[in-house]
Amino acid sequence: MSANRLSRALVLCAAGAILAALAPVHAAGRLCKLEISANDLMRYDRKELHAAADCTVIQVKLTHTGKLPASAMGHNWVLVESKDLEGVANAGAAAGFTENYLAPGDPRIIAATRLIGGGQSTTVTFPASRLKLGRSYMYLCTAPGHNALMRGIFHYGG
Ligand code: ZN
Repeated sequence: MSANRLSRALVLCAAGAILAALAPVHAAGRLCKLEISANDLMRYDRKELHAAADCTVIQVKLTHTGKLPASAMGHNWVLVESKDLEGVANAGAAAGFTENYLAPGDPRIIAATRLIGGGQSTTVTFPASRLKLGRSYMYLCTAPGHNALMRGIFHYGG
């Protein structure tokens, strides 16, 4: 083996060692994928969602299993603190269909999907650092009038 080849091999070996050392850091971060569906009867299929305490990034996939278009029976999934549910719902309804029934820049919204119609799905991904461990939050659909039926409890590490 020439000296040049040997030094290249050593560099590769060192790079491998560095990657091996970094691996546990990556393993500590965990993407948690949650799913919920909504239908033409103005219902979610889940009354509660749970994100484990070790989730660092949370992804929620919303699937609309109905047939009606978004203009008639559109749904979204919006995560808020319990105390903000009514306020976010009212502001969203006022913002209107073209804004996905979400008031632009509403700081009370922790995470939200867009509005979808039957046969569609959408996801939202957000850092778990937006939540406090052990606390419960609420999710709702902000289409006008929907949150009376379309709401649930979101637990993070609880
Ligand atoms: Zn809805």
